[in-house]
Amino acid sequence: MEFTTELDEEQFERYARHLILDEVGEEGQLRLLSSRILVVGAGGLGSPLLLYLAAAGVGTIGITDADRVDLTNLQRQIVHATDRVGALKVDSARDALASINPGVRVETHPLRLGPENAEALIGGYDLVADGSDNFETRYLLTDLCFRLKKPLVAAALSPFEGQISIFKPYLGPGHPCYRCLFRDAPPPDLVPRCETAGILGAVAGVLGTLQAVETLKELLQLGESLDGTLLLYDALRARFHSIRIAKDPECPTCRRA
Ligand SMILES: [Zn+2]
Repeated sequence: MEFTTELDEEQFERYARHLILDEVGEEGQLRLLSSRILVVGAGGLGSPLLLYLAAAGVGTIGITDADRVDLTNLQRQIVHATDRVGALKVDSARDALASINPGVRVETHPLRLGPENAEALIGGYDLVADGSDNFETRYLLTDLCFRLKKPLVAAALSPFEGQISIFKPYLGPGHPCYRCLFRDAPPPDLVPRCETAGILGAVAGVLGTLQAVETLKELLQLGESLDGTLLLYDALRARFHSIRIAKDPECPTCRRA
């Protein structure tokens, strides 16, 4: 891994509002610049997440997504643009990130994560942020991030609500995984996806932005983690609330430890 050891003049200016914070400072900024984050899905959650991670100077950002930009995506997937409809989402996102911050490296993986490719991919990153929209990927990431000991910042959306947590079950008792919370995926026909159920686009923005905040906090070791807590956002009632998640002693993922 490349390790940035000092900031250049341009970086001192670009990151001035980080550097002025005692909680970040030059040491924290160098840590961000040396971090490698994998963002799964360049969609409604991934868009603000990618934009903020690049702006913050996360040094290497991996993006995995097999899809191409569609006009119907643009109502919420703000990393993409009208003139990039038809392009691979990973390429469209890379262009957007490069224009915000050419100092970060973007690694594009135009593929759908599956058991055959996910382990090798995740192994190369420090943290995984899940912006996928299907349970297959969510459970695959849950199991692999546990095995590879990578923090997993996960969020999910419904038309007017969202939820977010961070999972570090490899740390042992008191650190639940996604499967401790939801043992099995619901039947596919019970799960509305944005494509079919619709969504108020900005709700995805709230949750994707929270994922960026929690990812940066995790990298900088700042404040309280959402490890063990599920934070829920109800847009129509304009309310947040959080619930504790217990580690399930019968959890098939955690029992493998
Ligand atoms: Zn578990």
